Amino acid sequence: MHRGSPLLVVGGAGTGKSRVIAARFLALVAEGSAPERLLVLTPTAARAQALRAGLEQSLERGYEELCVETPLALAARLLDAAGWENDALSSVLGAGDRLAMLLGRIDELPLRHHDFGGSATALLGGFVRRIDRLKAELVTAEDYAHWAGALAEGEDGALVDAPDGGASAALEQEFAEVYRAHERMLGEASARDAGDLLREALRMVHERPGTARRFEHVLIDDAHDFDLAAASLARAVAVGGLTAAGDPRAALRRFRGAGAARLRDLAAGDTHLVSLERGLRCSERVARAASVVAASPQPDSPPGGEVAFWRCANDRAQAQSVAADVERLISREGVKPGRIAILVSAVAREGQAVAVALEERAVAHRLVGEAAFFQRAEIRDVLAWLRLLADPADAGAVVRALARPPVELRSVDIARCTQIARRRKLDMVAALAAATESPQVPPEARERIRVFLKLHRSAVAALDTTRPDLYVHRLIERLGLRRQQLFAAQADVVERLRALARFGELASAHVRRAPQATPREFARSIAAVADSGLREQEEPKLTDAAAVQVLELGAAGGLDADHVYVLGLHVGLAAPVPEQIPDALLREDIPADTAENRRAMLRQLLYVAITRAGRRAVLAYPEAGERGSAHGPSPLVEEARVALGAEWEEKQEELFGPAETLHSTYRMLRDELLEGTMRAGGRLGELRFDTDLDVSHAVVRYLELLKVAALIARPDGQSVTEALRDVNSRILQAVTSEQREIFTSSVLDEYLLDAERDAGRRAKAMAARDEPSLDPFLPKRGDGVVLSASDIDTYRTCPLKYKFARVFRIPQEPTIHQRFGILVHQVLERFHAGDGSGTLAELLGLLDAGWRRGGFADSEEERQLRGKAASALTRYHARFQSEESEPMWFERSFTFKLGPHLLRGRVDRVDRLPGGEYELIDYKTGRPKSAAQLADDVQLSLYAVGAREAWRLEASQQAYYYLLDDQKVAVPSDEGGREWILEVAMEVAEGILSQGFEPTPSFAACSMCDYRLVCPAAER
Ligand code: SF4
Repeated sequence: MHRGSPLLVVGGAGTGKSRVIAARFLALVAEGSAPERLLVLTPTAARAQALRAGLEQSLERGYEELCVETPLALAARLLDAAGWENDALSSVLGAGDRLAMLLGRIDELPLRHHDFGGSATALLGGFVRRIDRLKAELVTAEDYAHWAGALAEGEDGALVDAPDGGASAALEQEFAEVYRAHERMLGEASARDAGDLLREALRMVHERPGTARRFEHVLIDDAHDFDLAAASLARAVAVGGLTAAGDPRAALRRFRGAGAARLRDLAAGDTHLVSLERGLRCSERVARAASVVAASPQPDSPPGGEVAFWRCANDRAQAQSVAADVERLISREGVKPGRIAILVSAVAREGQAVAVALEERAVAHRLVGEAAFFQRAEIRDVLAWLRLLADPADAGAVVRALARPPVELRSVDIARCTQIARRRKLDMVAALAAATESPQVPPEARERIRVFLKLHRSAVAALDTTRPDLYVHRLIERLGLRRQQLFAAQADVVERLRALARFGELASAHVRRAPQATPREFARSIAAVADSGLREQEEPKLTDAAAVQVLELGAAGGLDADHVYVLGLHVGLAAPVPEQIPDALLREDIPADTAENRRAMLRQLLYVAITRAGRRAVLAYPEAGERGSAHGPSPLVEEARVALGAEWEEKQEELFGPAETLHSTYRMLRDELLEGTMRAGGRLGELRFDTDLDVSHAVVRYLELLKVAALIARPDGQSVTEALRDVNSRILQAVTSEQREIFTSSVLDEYLLDAERDAGRRAKAMAARDEPSLDPFLPKRGDGVVLSASDIDTYRTCPLKYKFARVFRIPQEPTIHQRFGILVHQVLERFHAGDGSGTLAELLGLLDAGWRRGGFADSEEERQLRGKAASALTRYHARFQSEESEPMWFERSFTFKLGPHLLRGRVDRVDRLPGGEYELIDYKTGRPKSAAQLADDVQLSLYAVGAREAWRLEASQQAYYYLLDDQKVAVPSDEGGREWILEVAMEVAEGILSQGFEPTPSFAACSMCDYRLVCPAAER
């Protein structure tokens, strides 16, 4: 065994570096070291847990404790042990907590120069990320302020490249002030972040070197994944022996390739270097693909393995093909779900589509990563209640609470209640109280509404008096969320219980930050954090995973699976953009952020992803993007395919086969049965007339499960149709007449027999077993529906979104940007209501008057919007004066018939062009889209047909006028092409009439959707 100088073990993925660390630990113990005097450091808690579990199994002798830690846990341990702190970790606030802190005190932040860009939370979330990165690089707020101050004074040449040196200096200086304010607010709350804890521990070790002597030997695993602050602490405590292991091929993934600097530092001086050359995890073909992608030599590896290359028609085809393949592995090949991993470039994007596809097949899975925490169903349940308690007008939150346990109001009754709210102009909670008196609402629904109102009454009473953490705890208990989980069948029950506990911790952190805060304030703050892009970090499970894990490429390090799917490998895939830190502030020599360096990072990212697979890797890309644009594969993947002599496999959207249908239906029914039993059981104690009906429904759910189990086990050669007949007749011999009626009226048989149905129709058939028709709530005129361009757009984006917006008509408070858009439209409408010869002063006067009436306040964000509106209108006025075309109509409406349906719209402006032709113009206050992005545009195409049908006017041109950017984008119009919009409108109208409201979740749709909180498809 090597002794004396530090030891650095380098090797590729799966070459056994962690095993070497564990073996060295055991060898040191065998030579006489006490286990508690050895420190093992890993970059993440999950990796620490996996290493600790291995050591606990292997150590023969007893010990007081094992120190297998992350750098943060080590920092807390050192500070606590030295008496500098008492439970240092408990004072650490995560990124979400600090975002909430900044949001709560946004008025104290100097934000004159940064553009809010439509979202204060996104801007502040970006600040928190940047601050975290600066602290990981040991750059303090004072360092930053000093540097930024020098820029403003012109003493630093760093701005030479900046197009607008003055503005950049002002932005940097403003950020430095935000950084300082962040530090001040943390101090005032007696809290700190992870960066502070590491820095303080480092300072303490330097001031009291004795504290580090406690460890005879420090062992670092995955050293390439340590940030500068963490690595500095590790080196500072390694005053005895040091052993480190790292992978140079994965070192560039860290911030701008800082991992390579880490390995360079460790290799300096008299360090003894050992290189591991034999691959132990990846089989030969997988290792070969990874080596080609990483452009590095291939290690010796066990023979065999498989690498498949999938060219998928689109994102959905990609997600469904993966889900079908995963289901095949689990149900036919007996692969454990925990040995399968699906890697995506962004969980919020492809991860959601994959989760939906896995859910359709009832495959137990776990979405890991930044976006996962607030997407959890149980977390959304608590959030919805907190939101509605703080604001009874938050209709989306009320609808969610009504639809979910313990209330579970049916869709049709929810539609009745939103109708009452609208008609009587009540907030949703008041409307529910009114609904209990309404003859339109059936008695069973009234009972459920009373359950809601009772819960609401008891919870609202303590909203301004209880401590937020206690309040959240009681709310979770009252709603029975923990109890529901205990009876749920999903494999991730423990995860869900943990998530609920974590939510309670967020409330505790809030109390620490603001001891006087009420639950109402906590509700507002946590709702803002949930809406922001900054979420709770989660790590993949590295040991004993019970479910298929779906995670981001960048979080894959440390994972070990048999089957790995790497998705989204199209030509546009790029390494994440690193946080912008000025080189002058960096304390280590790391590569510049260049295109070449980012390409090298991407290679390493893919290398790490592929090498997670022991037996089989599937590399997939969608051929068509969300907007229909065509993609090729990433050149790196193409290189690997050619090197392996493999062919692309074409993948279309996957249909269920008969065997898959039976297995997935069984899992789906089993989950539904367990949850339904809990609900039915909960209602048995209530004094109701229809209790026996509840019991019969519960029994029939069980019989349906029995039926599917019998079909799976049917004799070889017997068809599903034949088997169904036999099984049904046997079951029917053992039931009551009421159960018989429910059993025979179920659509389950029809669903099982038609195995070729697509996923949407399957889900609809399953849902239809319980739901009555929504027909009375559809926007109908006679036999047809009434449609506008935005209705068509909404339905095509996602039919479920249409249902929430136009069938349930869930009342929505307009956002500040929607109000802003409406105001600008109104100002222009009023301006043109005269003879059109108004002066600029008059136009701006209308803005002033509208601004006051529109209820805008004077926050920094509102002031920015006000400025944008004034300059946009000034440019509009100048353009309007100089244009040759003559405006003929403003805000002109049209209505025309399409078969039984009625199409409606209103055109902002119609101009007569110098040649006598007409142009339709629609104003927009959002960001401009290119003509290519507008190729499939519904609105102006419909307006052109509307002008022809209703006004007998043929428009030769149509354009969007993006007011804030003073940009007019023409949308091409050719006569033949216009008819497509009528076909689209007809299809949409028929979809609505047949109540086809299946969700079509996608990142583009869901990230902009106001109904995320209500939507079951947007949660995990
Ligand atoms: S969140 Fe997504 S799936 Fe749900 S309604 Fe909105 S767009 Fe549709």
